[in-house]
Amino acid sequence: MDIRVNMDRLKRDLEELGCIGRDELGGVSRPSFSAADLEARAWLQKKMTEAGLCYRQDGAGNQFGRLECAGRTIMAGSHIDTVPSGGRYDGAVGVLAALEAARRIVEEKVPLAKAVEVASFTDEEGNLVGDFLGSRAFMGLLDEAAVRTGRTSFGVPFSDVLKMAGFTAEGILAARKDRPDLEAYVELHIEQGPLLEEEGVPIGIVERIAGKQYRQCAFVGESGHAGTTPLELRHDAFLGLADFALRATQLVATRHYGSTLTVGKAALHPGVFSVIPGRADFTLEFRSASAESMAAIERDVFGLAEDIAATRGLAFLSRIVDRTTPVTVAPRLVKLIEGECRSLGYASMKMTSGAGHDAQILAGACDAGLIFIPSPDGISHAPAERVNWDDLEKGANLLLRTLLAYLMPQP
Ligand SMILES: [Zn+2]
Repeated sequence: MDIRVNMDRLKRDLEELGCIGRDELGGVSRPSFSAADLEARAWLQKKMTEAGLCYRQDGAGNQFGRLECAGRTIMAGSHIDTVPSGGRYDGAVGVLAALEAARRIVEEKVPLAKAVEVASFTDEEGNLVGDFLGSRAFMGLLDEAAVRTGRTSFGVPFSDVLKMAGFTAEGILAARKDRPDLEAYVELHIEQGPLLEEEGVPIGIVERIAGKQYRQCAFVGESGHAGTTPLELRHDAFLGLADFALRATQLVATRHYGSTLTVGKAALHPGVFSVIPGRADFTLEFRSASAESMAAIERDVFGLAEDIAATRGLAFLSRIVDRTTPVTVAPRLVKLIEGECRSLGYASMKMTSGAGHDAQILAGACDAGLIFIPSPDGISHAPAERVNWDDLEKGANLLLRTLLAYLMPQP
């Protein structure tokens, strides 16, 4: 069945949603459960209802719009929350393209053999208590202590945020729903990297999603007077961190090609210009597309940290904050998306996603796949985030065709 999305309507939806939570930098600040997010949720509920979808919100604030049918369910979606001063397309593209696909299915009176469900998951960006709050709640994968007693990345107790938005920890923890009816989940998303643009290809078909380990670490040495403690007698925690950050990055670059390692945040104590740092706290995250290489990186990197600590007379401390396992997209789904893409006449390439998405979490319940469109200049999570409308139209048509391939009764 050769039906296409209504691109004018999809564009209008993106523009309308992009105005909610608009900030003075020209970006969108719409973290989940903020006033802007509550406004966006009401907007989305109205759009889903107008489209003729049966609307439901669960205890975690995940929003669903469903076209009922007795068969299994094909879900498509993403998220509408943003990082502070993020862009208009990260997440929004996946939810609104799924909504547009559902509308076209209704308008064309496509005979359904399965239910179709549009999903918008809460706090994919991890502004509150860890990444993927909504999809993890949906899958029953939440850390209960973090939900009950955690603080958000803005420094306030999560319970306060929930109360203000009219949600509860109990509701979030009870959002788990066994969904044996779920057959597949498909997510359209901006690439958030430069590869598709560099290759001049409009569609990326994701085969693997990298896993991630995020740790809070520290080197602990001894503070001392910067003028009177000779260099050779120091236990400078910052030098341990500097040495580690450089060598760990080189190690991943040479021994684990294609994986990444990042020290994203560091704080020296006592943090005084004339005092040798006695402690260096830092975040460490590494990502890789296979479980074997995740384990190998963990072994190599922590071996290196212990070596550096021993050589420099420091202690090395580390605890896991969050981890996700690498996901291989079901080959039959990759093949199906590829086939639909070919029949639409769009060029595509297969790729690995370095960023995690709700699809990674949903993969625990069903075949979950990701379709990427290019991010001009590789920019995302910033006001300058853009999409090329032609690419978006192709991505949305491909999403629609993928849903149709599942929905149409098999002859
Ligand atoms: Zn996203």
